[in-house]
Amino acid sequence: AKTIGIIGGGQLGRMLAMAAARLNFRTIILEPQTDCPAAQVSNEQIVAAYDDPAALLELAKRCDVVTYEFENVPVTAAEKLAQKVPVYPPPKALEMAQDRLTEKRFINGCGIPTARFHAVDSQADLEAALADFGGQGVLKTRRLGYDGKGQRVYRSAADSAEGGYSALGSVPLILESFVSFEREISIIAARGLDGAVACYDPAENVHRDGILHTSTLPARISDATAAAAREAAEKILTALGYVGVIGIEFFALADGSLIANEMAPRVHNSGHWTEAACVISQFEQHIRAVTGLPLGNPVRHSDCVMTNLIGDDILALPEWLRRDDTFVHLYGKTEARPGRKMGHVTTLTQGN
Ligand code: ATP
Ligand code: MG
Ligand code: MG
Repeated sequence: AKTIGIIGGGQLGRMLAMAAARLNFRTIILEPQTDCPAAQVSNEQIVAAYDDPAALLELAKRCDVVTYEFENVPVTAAEKLAQKVPVYPPPKALEMAQDRLTEKRFINGCGIPTARFHAVDSQADLEAALADFGGQGVLKTRRLGYDGKGQRVYRSAADSAEGGYSALGSVPLILESFVSFEREISIIAARGLDGAVACYDPAENVHRDGILHTSTLPARISDATAAAAREAAEKILTALGYVGVIGIEFFALADGSLIANEMAPRVHNSGHWTEAACVISQFEQHIRAVTGLPLGNPVRHSDCVMTNLIGDDILALPEWLRRDDTFVHLYGKTEARPGRKMGHVTTLTQGN
């Protein structure tokens, strides 16, 4: 059987490994942490850092293709690896998505609007940028932020900018203009080795404490807005020569227009519903794409709500299990720390 290398051992890697197994692929996980969610269900694990040269060499030797489950794989490691074995999505996608400044410039370059933004490399930069945005904005670390970490919101000119630069660690930052959105949506899309593109329906997302809480299908958006999300995804995938699944988040404004927020060059939490409400899940779609198989049909057969089980939410598991309309998926994590994603459930709300 062919072997797929997966860099990263979290729940996304776990779900990729499960989908790979169903299509007769072997999986090797590269992850420094032992007994990680992905290694529990994969064929093998290489226990090493993501950029460990010997581990990457071993991965290249033993795999037919290498993919990844998180966007902070070091770009140089991915590029070196790509000289020896196909790496999908292409390292260029990592490069564009790892830095919010590069990402916004790239997205704008595709003709897709984002929030306005300024690079912030000092307290003086922050004050000038805030002044330009009338005292409102969202300050974010350019790199490594997730689940709303590394962010600070300025709601009005009354919010003091003092100490803002050092409060986020005196690292390269970006100030984005504050977007008064009506709702947040995301689109999960895939591009195959042959250039074919398949998009799932956009999901409507609600966050709780900065972490995705629910994704609801269908999103309360017009057909035109949904079409705009698909077109944006297609432009981004084509510009990157992309292979695999991508998740792109948008703010939907009251007038129906879309502002892109960020993209993740991997399977995405807001696409977990696809395993319960579509014939082909985002995980299988990604495995199909990176192995050169034909993409599956992304059609949705049911309306649904995906709910993340975060920290103590897992205590409600017995109730979820008693429901006959709900698909339960757990990640093999034993300790329920606050903010930790333990699993998710997808409730089918209406069949099509
Ligand atoms: P993720 O876990 O999705 O990767 P993240 O930490 O990378 O999240 P963002 O998606 O950039 O962070 O922001 C988190 C949330 O903060 C958004 O989903 C949105 O609700 C809010 N937000 C971010 N940027 C803005 C903005 N410019 N204007 C208004 N709200 C924003
Ligand atoms: Mg993000
Ligand atoms: Mg986000």
